[in-house]
Amino acid sequence: EYISVANLGLALGVKQHVFLAQLAELGFEDISKESILQGETAALVAQEYGFEPTVDVGEEKDLKPRPTPEDTSALPQRPPVVTIMGHVDHGKTTLLDYLRKSSVAAGEHGGITQHIGAFSVRMSSGRDITFLDTPGHAAFLKMRQRGANVTDIVILVVAADDSVKPQTLEALKHARAAKVPMIVAITKVDKSDANVDRVKSDLAAQGVEIEDYGGDVQVVSVSGKTGAGMDDLEETILLQSDMMDIRAETDGMAEGWVLESSIKPIGRVATVLVKRGTLRPGDFIAAGMVYCKIRSLRNEAGVEVDEAPPGTAVEILGWKDPPDAGDMVLQAPSKDKAEGATRYRQELKDREEDVATMAVQGEERREREREAAEKAEMERREKGNHRTGGSGGGEVVEKEGKEKDGREEENKTPGTQLVNFTVKGDVHGSVEAVCASVMEIGNNEVRPRVLLSSTGQVTESDVEHAATSGSSIINFNNPVSGHIKRLADDAGVKIIDHNIIYHLAEEVRDMLSALLPPNI
Ligand code: GDP
Repeated sequence: EYISVANLGLALGVKQHVFLAQLAELGFEDISKESILQGETAALVAQEYGFEPTVDVGEEKDLKPRPTPEDTSALPQRPPVVTIMGHVDHGKTTLLDYLRKSSVAAGEHGGITQHIGAFSVRMSSGRDITFLDTPGHAAFLKMRQRGANVTDIVILVVAADDSVKPQTLEALKHARAAKVPMIVAITKVDKSDANVDRVKSDLAAQGVEIEDYGGDVQVVSVSGKTGAGMDDLEETILLQSDMMDIRAETDGMAEGWVLESSIKPIGRVATVLVKRGTLRPGDFIAAGMVYCKIRSLRNEAGVEVDEAPPGTAVEILGWKDPPDAGDMVLQAPSKDKAEGATRYRQELKDREEDVATMAVQGEERREREREAAEKAEMERREKGNHRTGGSGGGEVVEKEGKEKDGREEENKTPGTQLVNFTVKGDVHGSVEAVCASVMEIGNNEVRPRVLLSSTGQVTESDVEHAATSGSSIINFNNPVSGHIKRLADDAGVKIIDHNIIYHLAEEVRDMLSALLPPNI
């Protein structure tokens, strides 16, 4: 329902400092790249740039039938991804080491695992659990700051001999903010001064709804030293993940997150946690501003594997530049597309930097203007004191000439039909990724334009804005209420709704090709 100036400028394809100058001309005051415009205001601005509603509702029937939204119940299960958090010295590392020894790869390779940021444990039932292996994993925190959840379940570790401590509460806060289910593991139960009941009542006092107190947070007592309760813990994790019905499709373009990135003797490597799809050697992926043709995949034992299915983490070789931990990873069908996605993001960043520079320059200019105005005011007063009369003020400050920049004309092939979109997604990273995928589509005849993008569910004002600007709404990984669907139907606004980015892109592509004249 709102858009930053930076994003609007980008959506309109106008170089940011030019855009800022033009906004000033349109009468906006004190505008910067962070300024937020209301949807309607943004729509008016967009109209100034020649955006007219282009969607002819009558054409709707000519579009290909809309694929049904993903029915996840038909998809294969994937391993749950688990993060262990808790107070220092409460036994997180010991617990992870115990689990790591029973890891899939360790089993196959004499118990030796190396640190890649995650490892998978195979249960006797044959099912896997993937653990992020740095307690309170930095990538987890960073991704959460961006609003993304890499983890499905948090295990809150509390030592039986020490109970709830400051970092326990900190971890609790993170788990709650991430809105992921939590399992409490009470560690060190082998110690003589262990007091499990005290831990339970202390947690209950902190508002943790543990099962002993009638809540639904499961509590397991374990010892990382003797291994007591470890099977129970693993079973509890699987039980929890069954309740959450964690599934993902194994084919289609893969999506994931960078957990870690480093330079090793073998080259640049990054551990990627795959959330959907399957990664294989030879695949192209893009993460942030870098892309990679996957040279090889290795598990936590350093052994090459043929594929990384959803819910697993692998170390990926083949990066030209290292990606950043916390970046979203997207598979691309070709090198060109992968490169295109990174170029788009680079452009986004460049423009943001341009605007930042502009903001600084603008601040300096305003400072100069203030000084000049003060000086003029003083001179005016002096003149006034001398009663010499005269002009009485007037324009004393010469505005700097507006900057000329031919680049605003870039990409404007005459006759290109622009199709407007509003992009909504669950988290910042996915909105960015969806925008990048959508912007890649099109040719000289028809191209998409993202007028608005924001996180959160589709709102009434999104629909209204889409109706006025002739946009279709792209919705990623958010539920759409029946009310909104009806509203959109009535307003003739199409909502493209998927949980998988490449399905979104496919539908946008179909939609654009339907707009092409026949025989082309
Ligand atoms: P972290 O800081 O949470 O990773 O804690 P560590 O795993 O490093 O454990 C801190 C100390 O507690 C170490 O000396 C461990 O040997 C010890 N410890 C951890 N788990 C257990 C346990 O289950 N039983 C006993 N007796 N000691 C434990």
